[in-house]
Amino acid sequence: MSRPDALRPSPIVPTVDFDRDGVQHGCLRLPYSRDDSAWGSIMIPMTVVKRGEGPTALLTGGNHGDEYEGPIALFELARVLTTAEVTGRVIIVPAMNYPAFRAGTRTSPIDGGNLNRSFPGRPDGTPTEKIADFFQRHLLPMADVVVDLHSGGRTLAFVPFTAAHAQADADQERRALAAVAAFAAPYSIRMREIDPVGMYDTAAEELGRVFVTTELGGGGTATAHTVDLARRGIRSVLGHAGILGGSIDRPPTVQLDMPTDACFVFSESDGLIEPCVGLGEAVRRGEVLARVYGTDRTGLAPAAYTAGLDGILIGRYFPGLVKRGDCLAVIGVPARS
Ligand code: ZN
Repeated sequence: MSRPDALRPSPIVPTVDFDRDGVQHGCLRLPYSRDDSAWGSIMIPMTVVKRGEGPTALLTGGNHGDEYEGPIALFELARVLTTAEVTGRVIIVPAMNYPAFRAGTRTSPIDGGNLNRSFPGRPDGTPTEKIADFFQRHLLPMADVVVDLHSGGRTLAFVPFTAAHAQADADQERRALAAVAAFAAPYSIRMREIDPVGMYDTAAEELGRVFVTTELGGGGTATAHTVDLARRGIRSVLGHAGILGGSIDRPPTVQLDMPTDACFVFSESDGLIEPCVGLGEAVRRGEVLARVYGTDRTGLAPAAYTAGLDGILIGRYFPGLVKRGDCLAVIGVPARS
C-alpha cells in the first residue's frame, strides 16, 4: 500500500526504553482529550524483556477486544518472563486495541474502529488509527517474528488453529509456516482471508516479517484448553526463533489449506440456526452444514446451507440467531503432503 512520504510523528509515547536490557513494565501512552479528561490518555499496557543482542519477537493479543486467549496468556507471560531466559528481545502487548478490550467488544467504543481493518493507520486519525500507525511504523520494524493471538470473539467459534498466509515471497511463506508448525496448535492452516486490506497480518507480511496468527476458540470467552494452547504455543515459537532455550514440545497438528472462496459460507437469510455439523467434523461437498429457520411464522421450510467442497468444518457463526450476510461456516481442506 502506498504511503505519504512525510507522515507526522506518532502522538503515542512509549514509557519503556526498547534498547535497555532487563524487564520493563510500562505502556504506550496515547493522548486522548475528552469530556472527562481534557488532557487525558489511553494507557495501553506493555512489557519489554531484553537481554543482549538477538532476534525480537512482538507478541500481541486483544487486536479485537472480545478475544481472550491472547490477553490471558500474554498478561501472564509479561508477569513471569525473566531476563535470564531471553536472548534478544520480547515485546508484549496483551491488549492492542485497549479501549475495545476494556469494553469487551470487537471494535473500539471510542471511534468504532476495527484495529485489524485499520492498517497502516494514521498518526492524525482516530485513536484506533493512531494505534495502527504506531505498530506499523515503530513496533513492526523492530520485530523479526510477530505472533498475533486471535480467537472468534462473540460471533464466531473455531477449531483451535494457527495460520500463515500464502505469500508472493516463497522463502517468507516457508519461514512463516515453520513458525506456525512450531506453535503446534491442533490445526495449522495456510489461510485465505475474506478481505486482507487493512489487516495487521498484511502490514507485517508486507514488511517482510514472519507473521503467525491464531484462531484458538471463540464465542467471546476462553477455555482452559485454548488458554493452554496459547501459553505453550507462544513459548514454542519463541524457542523456534532462538529467543528462549530448552526443548520444544510439538504435539501433532493437522495441516489444512483454504484453496478457494468456497471455504466461506454466508447466510442469505435472517433466522434461527440449526447447526448440522460440529466443529472439527469432516464434511462432503453438498452436505448440509446448517439450516436457518425464519421466525416470523410457523410452517416455513428452513434454508439449507451446504458445503461447497470436501473438508473439515473449522469455523461457524456462534450466536443462535443469524442475519443475512453473516459468515455461517468456514471449511478447511486437508493439505496434500
Ligand atoms: Zn480477531
